[in-house]
Amino acid sequence: MNQPRVVVAGGGLAGISAALALADAGAPVTLLEARGRLGGATYSFQRNGHWLDNGQHVFLRCCTAYRALLERIGSSSLVTLQARLDIPVIHPVRGLSRLRRAPLPAPLHLTRGLAAYRHLGWRDKLAAARTAAALARLDLGRRDLDDRTLGGWLRERGASPQALEALWDLIALPTLNLPANQASLWQGAMVFQTGLLTNAAAADIGYAAVPLGQAHGARAAAALDAAGVEVRLNAPLAAIERPTGGDLRLRLGQAALPAAALVLAVPHDQAAALLPADVRAGAPDFARLGHSPIVNLHVFYDRPVMPHAFAAGIGTPLQWVFDRTEAAGAAEGQCLAVSLSGAQAYADQSTQALREAFLPELARLFPRAREARVIDVAATRDHRATFRAAPGALRLRPRVVTADPRIALAGAWTDTGWPATMEGAVRSGRQAARAVLLARGLHRGLPEVEAA
Ligand SMILES: Cc1cc2nc3c(=O)[nH]c(=O)nc-3n(C[C@H](O)[C@H](O)[C@H](O)COP(=O)(O)OP(=O)(O)OC[C@H]3O[C@@H](n4cnc5c(N)ncnc54)[C@H](O)[C@@H]3O)c2cc1C
Repeated sequence: MNQPRVVVAGGGLAGISAALALADAGAPVTLLEARGRLGGATYSFQRNGHWLDNGQHVFLRCCTAYRALLERIGSSSLVTLQARLDIPVIHPVRGLSRLRRAPLPAPLHLTRGLAAYRHLGWRDKLAAARTAAALARLDLGRRDLDDRTLGGWLRERGASPQALEALWDLIALPTLNLPANQASLWQGAMVFQTGLLTNAAAADIGYAAVPLGQAHGARAAAALDAAGVEVRLNAPLAAIERPTGGDLRLRLGQAALPAAALVLAVPHDQAAALLPADVRAGAPDFARLGHSPIVNLHVFYDRPVMPHAFAAGIGTPLQWVFDRTEAAGAAEGQCLAVSLSGAQAYADQSTQALREAFLPELARLFPRAREARVIDVAATRDHRATFRAAPGALRLRPRVVTADPRIALAGAWTDTGWPATMEGAVRSGRQAARAVLLARGLHRGLPEVEAA
């Protein structure tokens, strides 16, 4: 009855996953979240009667742990997932061409699509096919692949600036949140192998059909409640005290909370500040992972201007654009979310400056936007959206276990092998829950976790 509680600090996808896995294994769990809502880096807010997400979030069919979380919290019906990968890629002058997969096994599933892709000449296509085969063969056991950039490696194999933009960065930017020229080769190889080169269906694209906060935070709150997890919002963990042996003492303002174990599922810089120095000393210096920003521009038009559910832009600073009209709850017109990854150049710009930079670009890509009236524009900027998946990041990412068996780490920044994604967050949460249960000698109801 008086079993001491396991505490999870951080109510993002990592913390939610950890708390559910712990509760499902029979542990009494308290989840502490600093903010007044769950969902962490995935949330929605209201503006002028419409729902906007803090940033467009995309997942792929290969994100199995994330999709299992959606299932667990009853959100599977709130997302769309393409039956087959199909990306409309638009150039302002050359127009539309699609990157899509054929119903063939990997790697043949991409051959026909690449051959038909009009944004690359045949030389680039041949080089891309050869390079993709070499990328698929890279051994991810070689951690030294993390010492150099994906872009440098691609250029060495003859990738032209056009191929980098129209093919490699099209995938690298949204998945790694850095352009290929800045991203780690190891991380890039992991993404291309997992998403595109091994399993034909892996890269089919999915995203929330409703406001993200509804699919994640709200549904997770109900699932946690049903699982018996005590959720405390506006309850930031302030300090971790570790009496030798026995329970941890967690400081929350003036109050102290005893905890049999702790899953620390907060962003990496905050984890570094909270983790006791001797425990941190046993882990890589993850505070040095740094950050890469994401900026989204939300544009409401008085009429539909983009005839696609989403599209990618090349020959333009626009990267990916999503139709969010229904999710926003807009009765008429069209709401577009322009998603800019690796957005160092834009993160400090005013909404007016972003508007001046991107509305003309939208009009270049979508002719109907030239006649349409812009009703509202909002910008969301997250300077600390993800860690920087640059060379060197791999050795800075800690395992979920720490030198103190009572404390486990969770978060998309831990060493899951995945870039900073929802999938990585969920995997880390489940790994941390497993580590805590094992450390407590509990071997029943362990969450299944995928190998890192
Ligand atoms: C704009 C944007 C777009 C993105 N797009 C994609 C995408 O398309 N696809 C994708 O897969 N991923 C995307 N990501 C990344 C993805 O959102 C994150 O990797 C993932 O959600 C991180 O989850 P987490 O639980 O590790 O961390 P977080 O979501 O950061 O959760 C940490 C939680 O800890 C809480 N906290 C902090 N300090 C304390 C404390 N002291 N006590 C208690 N709680 C505390 C925070 O309030 C937060 O809720 C995007 C991120 C952003 C910001």
